Amino acid sequence: MISQGIIWPNGAKCAACLSFDMDADSLIHVAYPGDGHTKVSPISMLRYGPTVAVPRIVETYRRLGIKQTFFIPAWCIEQYPGAVETIMEGGHEIAHHSYIHENPLEQTDADEAHWLDLGIDIIKRTTGKAPRGWRAPLYNFSNRSLDLLLERGFAYDASLMGADIPYVIKSRRTGGELIELPSHWGLDDWPQWVQSFELNYMMPVRSAKSGFALYLEEFEAAYAHGGLWVPVLHPFCTGRLARWHVFDAFLEKVVRRGDVWFAPMEEIAAYARAEIDAGRFQAMTDLLPQYEQPVGRVFPR
Ligand SMILES: [Zn+2]
Repeated sequence: MISQGIIWPNGAKCAACLSFDMDADSLIHVAYPGDGHTKVSPISMLRYGPTVAVPRIVETYRRLGIKQTFFIPAWCIEQYPGAVETIMEGGHEIAHHSYIHENPLEQTDADEAHWLDLGIDIIKRTTGKAPRGWRAPLYNFSNRSLDLLLERGFAYDASLMGADIPYVIKSRRTGGELIELPSHWGLDDWPQWVQSFELNYMMPVRSAKSGFALYLEEFEAAYAHGGLWVPVLHPFCTGRLARWHVFDAFLEKVVRRGDVWFAPMEEIAAYARAEIDAGRFQAMTDLLPQYEQPVGRVFPR
């Protein structure tokens, strides 16, 4: 099912990382710059992530002895130091996820570089080391993102959807390479559960178990075929009581079984890189950007 597969360490059937994007209320301020600060109830919904859900999630990880990855906008790092401290005390990876969830597709070259650099500075100041990975807000990876990440020494990206296992994204401009750890919308919790009239998020709210069924199917396929299982989750959403209750029970069962490699994204990326360099893994390579110019303009002739 997966051609040119990767052999995971210690006989693991697949690799897994629950990647949590701790966006908190950054989403509101960037979408409603004029009056976002007045939206008290939606802010409370999103603040549930850093204040209530993050300690709950980190406690599950502590109990099971696993380390995972949190992508955090730098503004949220400054706004919610308690949550960041909890994550760091647990030994989890903190990766880059914009400054305040701004959209790289709407930025100039200089602006994308500026906000990326500011995020790096804040992560360095907080964790003592530069971030190794990046996920674009809302998967909005721009035509220049890869080159900016390469210039700044990133090891991996987690914004793209081009394969089932790690692959290489290579700059069309410089030839530089980054490991891509792909996911896709079917593994994102937004379409499952995120509903808010006030913020115009209009998704049907599934039950915790029926929403989780999609993750389970994805997991079973990754397990059967040596894939990579990277759910894209948000603490305010998947960290709610009933949903995390279901995730926690699943993790309890699978982590205890011991044949799945749960690791932070930076470790999975480093492993994939080493396997490629040793000639044991023939990874797919994607040249980026795919196009330098608009394609297929038919009308007007
Ligand atoms: Zn996000």
